[in-house]
Amino acid sequence: MTRKYNFCSGPATLPVEVLEQAREELLDWQGKGMSVMEMSHRSAEFVSIAEEAERDFRDLLAIPDNYKVLFLQGGATAQFSMVPLNLLRGKEKADYIDTGIWSRKAIDEARRYCTVNVAATAKSSNYTKIPDQAEWQLDPEAAYVHYTPNETIGGVEYQWIPETGEVPLVADMSSSILSRPLDVTRFGCIYAGAQKNIGPAGLTIVIVREDLLGEALPFTPLSFNYKVAADNGSMYNTPPTYAWYLAGLVFKWLKRQGGVEAMAEVNRRKAEKLYQLIDNSGFYNNPIDPSSRSWMNIPFTLKDEALNAKFLAEAEAAGLANLQGHRSVGGMRASIYNAMPEAGVDALIEFMKQFEKQNG
Ligand SMILES: *Cc1c(COP(=O)(O)O)cnc(C)c1O
Repeated sequence: MTRKYNFCSGPATLPVEVLEQAREELLDWQGKGMSVMEMSHRSAEFVSIAEEAERDFRDLLAIPDNYKVLFLQGGATAQFSMVPLNLLRGKEKADYIDTGIWSRKAIDEARRYCTVNVAATAKSSNYTKIPDQAEWQLDPEAAYVHYTPNETIGGVEYQWIPETGEVPLVADMSSSILSRPLDVTRFGCIYAGAQKNIGPAGLTIVIVREDLLGEALPFTPLSFNYKVAADNGSMYNTPPTYAWYLAGLVFKWLKRQGGVEAMAEVNRRKAEKLYQLIDNSGFYNNPIDPSSRSWMNIPFTLKDEALNAKFLAEAEAAGLANLQGHRSVGGMRASIYNAMPEAGVDALIEFMKQFEKQNG
């Protein structure tokens, strides 16, 4: 067996230790004679797995007691509807910040439910720079302010948390949650699909402040209602049990690494050395303003686009998989989430140096 370094943007690589433990427990979880996949979600065994995962997640991000943590399905895309359905709370307007493809998808969906004020857009920089908050046109009457801390496709990331006063701040953290410490008290709601930085696809985690619950739009499907999920311990209907269990293994792994503070150090180092290589070469290019560069997703182009296919084929042969950029952007993209070891980034850098030498 040879595992490659997998730079896929999502579903993304998982820690080897987690996969090994899952394999170990696949047929017989802790002497119960069955797989977690085969257990009732209401069994004492699964409830203990679920509760422990939530406890570890809360510890990792120091989530205060007045926030609910929900383990849902539907991906971040379902949250694009669930946020307005649950958080408009009798209001008719919401503020959105447009920094790239994922924020625009959130905006398009929200327009089905309310008047969207695009309070700021990165369009003038061709989506290479997060607009300064001084330029935002926030509406004090908005039900909430929605933003995308890390744009997975564009590779732009906020290095700061917006200030929205009394208006709840809502964040799509699908590709950056757990990558660094986070002051959860600054937010009304945080959501993340699991398949980038948490675990396998199929699980979506929502952190929501309790006082925002209970005012969903009347036609909100019960399976889309945060309060229903919260009141039922995320088990109003069958949750994605196996993905929840695997997320729990990832949380334990993160704790063993030293938590999000330790991850932040490694993540910063991984990103800095890759940007440095790109910036110091006349062969590779990353177009993002240094103030807004992502630690998680690093897009880059080659000097000559005709070399793209060769780069990808040789990278693959060198054990470096899934470096092709998003179909809407082209070029390359290295997604280097928590589970990408520093040795993987080092191997990529070594490969890129060699490739430049031979083709530059
Ligand atoms: C991947 C991603 C999404 C879409 O997630 P799905 O689980 O496919 O719905 C939304 N927002 C961001 C920031 C993402 O990275």
